[in-house]
Amino acid sequence: MKVLYVASEVAPFIKTGGLGDVAGSLPKALAAKGCEVAVVCPLYSKIGREWRDKMYYIKSLYVQLAWRNQYCGIFVYEDAGVKYYFLDNEYYFARNQVYGEYDDAERFAFFSRAVLEMLPEIGFRPDVINCNDWQSALVPVYYCLNYNYRPWYEGIKTVFTIHNIQFQGQYGREILSYVLGIDDYHFDNGFMQQDGDVNMMKAAIVCADRVTTVSSTYAGEIQTPFYGFHLDPVLRWNQGKVSGIVNGIDVDAYNPETDPHLFKNYSVNTLDDKKENRKQLLAMCGLQADDETPVIGMVGRLTSQKGLDLIQCVLNDILEQDVRLIVLGTGDYAYEQMFINAKWQYPDKISTNIMFSNDLANKIYAGCDLFLMPSLFEPCGLAQMIAMRYGTLPLVRETGGLKDTVIPYNQFTGEGTGFSFSNYNAHEMLHVIKSACFLFRHNQEAWRAMQIAGMTTDFSWDHSAQVYLDLYQSAING
Ligand code: ADP
Repeated sequence: MKVLYVASEVAPFIKTGGLGDVAGSLPKALAAKGCEVAVVCPLYSKIGREWRDKMYYIKSLYVQLAWRNQYCGIFVYEDAGVKYYFLDNEYYFARNQVYGEYDDAERFAFFSRAVLEMLPEIGFRPDVINCNDWQSALVPVYYCLNYNYRPWYEGIKTVFTIHNIQFQGQYGREILSYVLGIDDYHFDNGFMQQDGDVNMMKAAIVCADRVTTVSSTYAGEIQTPFYGFHLDPVLRWNQGKVSGIVNGIDVDAYNPETDPHLFKNYSVNTLDDKKENRKQLLAMCGLQADDETPVIGMVGRLTSQKGLDLIQCVLNDILEQDVRLIVLGTGDYAYEQMFINAKWQYPDKISTNIMFSNDLANKIYAGCDLFLMPSLFEPCGLAQMIAMRYGTLPLVRETGGLKDTVIPYNQFTGEGTGFSFSNYNAHEMLHVIKSACFLFRHNQEAWRAMQIAGMTTDFSWDHSAQVYLDLYQSAING
C-alpha cells in the first residue's frame, strides 16, 4: 500500500507541538509494517542547516492558486524507509514563525494545492492521502473539486485526521475565490461554510473518505457541543466515517536508557539513577529539595486548553505546600506572567522557563516526580505518555487521550500509572495533588510500583500503526 502523509510540521525537522511528533513517528511505524510511505511538509526557513544539507533538490513546478502562479521547489530526504518531501517557496515559508502569519490561509492553501500537483512530478501515486489538521484540510477539498476526475488521480482515498478541533482554518468569505481559488457557489451551498465563515476543517470532514482523531474518547467528545467547537453537528452527520486512534510516541527518541539530553541514563532496572537527574535538574533550575519533597513538572503550551485556569486559581495553594514546581512553556501572555510573578513570590519553590527547549523538556520528564497536565480538553496528549516512559507519574484531568492513556491510582489494589480527577474544578485538582504528594512522602513502595507500571506500558506506535493500516485498507475497499 502507498500512503502520502501530509503535515504542516514534522519532527525532528520542525516541531511546535504534538502534530510534529506524530508526523515524525507514525510514518516510520507504517513503513516498518511494509507500507510505502512518503511524508510532505513545507520547507520553512526555520528548518535547520543540519537538515537542509542532507536534502536533495529534485525539480520545481508552478502551482496555480486562484489567479496566482507560484514557484514550488521539491526537495527530498530519506530515512528509515520513509521519503520526506519538502516544498519550497520562500515567499510563503521564509518567515519567523511557522503559524500565526497574516496570510496563513494563503500559505497553507498553496501548500495543499502544491501537494496534489507534485504527485505526478515525483511519480508517486498514493492509494491513500492522510492529511492533518486545518493546515492540510484543503487537500481532500481540492482533491474532490479539481482532481478526482483526472485519470492519474482517480480512486485515491483521503483520510483527514483531527489533532485539535479548536483550530479550524476559519476565514472571511472573501478569501474563498480570491485566495483559495474555490468557487463562491460552495459557500452558498454550505460546503465551505460554517457560522458565516469559510471553514476548511468542516469542508474536509464532509469530503474526506475517513475522518480520524487521536484518541477514542476525543472522537466521542467532539461530537458533543462542549468539545466540538461548533463542528459537532457535522461530525454527528458523518458519524459513520469518524473514529479515534490513539497516538503512540517515538519510543526510540523518548528512551531514558539512551536519551542524550539526560544527566544520567536509566531504565526500569536502574531506576535509582533517575534521582541523579532529579538532583541535577534542581541544581540547574536553582532549586533545592530533599528526597521527601515532590518535584512537579509542567511542559506544554501555556493556554487555557492545558488547564491553566485551574492552575491560576490554586497556584498559591500549590506553592504553599512543601513542593517544587518546574514549568517549561510559552503561550498566552497572562499565563506566562502568572508563572513569572510566582517566581518573585516563591523564589525557592518554582522555576519558570518561558521558552521552547527540547533539551530542558527531556530533563524535566526525567528529573521530576510528578507531571501536571490538567487539560480542559486534550485530543490525545503526548507529554503524559513521555512522562510515564521516564518514570514520572502524570496527574491529569480525565478527558480525551489523557483518560485513555493514564490509569488512575487505585489505593486498594495499588494499580495505576498516575493520578486523575474528573471535573474541571481547581479544588478537585488541588485535592488530588495533595493526595499524590502524600503518597510520594509516605508510600514509596506504591509510588515505585506505579513508576514501573508506566515505564513498562507499551506506548509505541506498533498497535496504532496497524489500526491506521486497517483503516486505510477499509477506505480503499470502499
Ligand atoms: P499539543 O500538541 O497540544 O501542544 P502534546 O502533549 O500532544 O500537546 O504535545 C506537545 C509536545 O510538544 C510534547 O512533545 C512536548 O514535550 C512538546 N513541548 C511543548 N511545549 C514545549 C516547550 N516549551 N519546550 C519543549 N517542548 C515542548
